[in-house]
Amino acid sequence: MIPVLLREYPDSARSRGDSTFHMEETGEGCVLVVTGPDAALLDGAEKTRSGKTLKLCPLTVENSKVIRKLFEFTNPVRHKGHNVTIGFGDRLGLASAGHIRLVSGLDVFPVLAQQSKRELNLTNRTYDDVLAAAVWAVFREGYTKGYGADGDHLKTHEEVKSALKSGYSMITLDCSDHIRNDLAYAPQPEIDARYAKLPTNLTTKLENRYLNKIFPVCSDINIGFDEPDFRRIALVYLPAIDHALSIYDDLLKDARVDFEISIDETLTTTSPQSHFFVANELIGHGVKIASLAPRFTGELQKRIDYRGDPSEFERDFLIHAKLAEAFGYKISVHSGSDKFSIFPVIGKLAGGGYHLKTAGTSWLEAVRVIAQRAPSLYRGMHAFALEHLHEAKKYYHITGNAANIADINSVSDAGLPDYLEQDDSRQALHITYGLMLQAKAEDGSALFRDKIYEALHAYESDYFTALEKHLGRHLTALGVK
Ligand code: ZN
Repeated sequence: MIPVLLREYPDSARSRGDSTFHMEETGEGCVLVVTGPDAALLDGAEKTRSGKTLKLCPLTVENSKVIRKLFEFTNPVRHKGHNVTIGFGDRLGLASAGHIRLVSGLDVFPVLAQQSKRELNLTNRTYDDVLAAAVWAVFREGYTKGYGADGDHLKTHEEVKSALKSGYSMITLDCSDHIRNDLAYAPQPEIDARYAKLPTNLTTKLENRYLNKIFPVCSDINIGFDEPDFRRIALVYLPAIDHALSIYDDLLKDARVDFEISIDETLTTTSPQSHFFVANELIGHGVKIASLAPRFTGELQKRIDYRGDPSEFERDFLIHAKLAEAFGYKISVHSGSDKFSIFPVIGKLAGGGYHLKTAGTSWLEAVRVIAQRAPSLYRGMHAFALEHLHEAKKYYHITGNAANIADINSVSDAGLPDYLEQDDSRQALHITYGLMLQAKAEDGSALFRDKIYEALHAYESDYFTALEKHLGRHLTALGVK
């Protein structure tokens, strides 16, 4: 049986020599349609339509790799030269076309594929899967301006290797396992004793480099270290610096990727001195840093606005942004979705450019569309989220509390989307996504996964509109034009 053509994607039409390519929606899902000699390069089924032979190719990882060889623009690239870069992330593999539509007319470089190892595990996807979803979205939308792919929050050699092998253009190294948080508040005598045990040739070198010196960052910001603080900073960060150096030397020196250092997943705020020390050591050893994510003051929790004093954030952010500018990389803001009260500050103060990661917000917009269009599915997901909130809190640090969420049995269908406006329910729906996607019914079938995909497929244009609207508010608040 020939799958029926339901919808063509005109922006996907391309030709190469005597071959033509375009994407279309059939009753059996979205496919790539190829005619001519290039069809032999792709897996698919040959069909005849109006007397013409076509090959209908499924959107697999293998086919995406062929497309990447045939069409240069479908490969992820470094963000060089772009002041504003936004990491979107697309947990379901359905949102990238919406992200592309949002940025296509703007001076913003999109990092479409952006998944942490944790997210891959929770969604049962691989680096290849995540990149392939971005490749197909780019092809379908005919987006030729370039995009990035971020192996996000990678921790080990193995993880970095695997993202590089898949062709990722950005590597975010999460140094948190090597940052000695436990020493951040240790009593000074303990710090001094530990410091005294470091090799003397190392401490002498470091002291000559950092003590009794003033490092001008910009006209009104200078960095200086006093000796007790310096010892503490060295003890807390040296293991992380060593780890980053070994990853860089072994794997990234010759790789053409944007290297982001992430020191944000810690319990303590990153002081300007710590930021300076980490960056200065790495750069001194020849590391090319594309961006660095410190832990800012206040709380940047997932999917809700900034918690803390915005004017304090402004002071803190300014110093980190100036440090980044002076060192020649971007300042990176993680958990950057929905931080509307601090977006204007980020947009205004990050003179050297910034990278903003907004991952899970595309998932929440998917849930919003489900709440609007498939109320009974939403009710099931909502009940599941509340039941498993406690379990999910093991993976994500949030304050969301089930007691603050209105009983769903007293809410009409029309009121369901309001749950996406309330902080506690937003967080509950956000952090339980992995458990929700993996949940199985008694017969072993997926409890929600297939239904979620079906609903978003059916209401695709609603989903893209919701993404454009919500993420568009982010860009407006940042001052992106
Ligand atoms: Zn982070």
